[in-house]
Amino acid sequence: MKILVAVKRVVDYNVKVRVKADKTGVELSNVKMSMNPFDEIAVEEAVRLKEAGKANEIIVVSMGPTAAQETIRTALAMGADRGILVQTDTELQPLAVSKLLKKVAEKESPDLVILGKQAIDDDSNQTGQMLAALLNWPQGTFASKVELGNNTAKVTREIDGGLETVDLKIPCIITTDLRLNEPRYASLPNIMKAKKKAIDIMTPDDLDVDVMPRLTTLKVEEPEGRKGGVKVPDVAALVDKLKNEAKVIG
Ligand code: AMP
Repeated sequence: MKILVAVKRVVDYNVKVRVKADKTGVELSNVKMSMNPFDEIAVEEAVRLKEAGKANEIIVVSMGPTAAQETIRTALAMGADRGILVQTDTELQPLAVSKLLKKVAEKESPDLVILGKQAIDDDSNQTGQMLAALLNWPQGTFASKVELGNNTAKVTREIDGGLETVDLKIPCIITTDLRLNEPRYASLPNIMKAKKKAIDIMTPDDLDVDVMPRLTTLKVEEPEGRKGGVKVPDVAALVDKLKNEAKVIG
């Protein structure tokens, strides 16, 4: 079994994101970048399947600038076997990423493609679903458990108010939710070993995909700051404020 994992380089989740003065986006210069947390979970799941003897090759793919190689190296240090960088400085929207992933999947013929459920920078939650549509493969999104059977993947999904279990025919697309696993830290020897693993570099043109953005960002703004609270003297004053100021009770 061959697994393809998509990993995105994003602003580290610990960074307090700042909006640029001209409101065209968020500040990216001198900001710590890391692998999208849901993609770490995707890599971890693939590595666990390999360790359990259920998969024999894990390929990680990232689309973005040259620096996305660092993200691929991190995945290689966690246990993936080789990497692919689709290198471009153009801003990539989920549709473009899905089209590129489709081409990579057609070249590599994986049995499973694992992605994060969403990238924490654009919060789109679209790429896995669009890829499934483009490939016409079944999808199990928001996975909190994955069990491989004979040519099937049983995926437990986190849905509103409970869990849903779906049986997918392989090849299929899986997107990871937070509770699927806890990703490992790469050990120093594995980081050293990862330096020798191969990363194949190509461009969107090589894959014959037009990645021009289809959506325009009009403006990006900080959320409104919290207003200070007030202390009310008694329940009657509280009820009065809820009724007449906040208007949340009748
Ligand atoms: P999104 O639809 O943008 O929220 O992203 C969902 C998932 O698609 C991410 O968790 C990644 O697994 C994958 N993905 C999105 N953008 C990229 C990218 N530029 N390179 C690699 N994978 C990506």
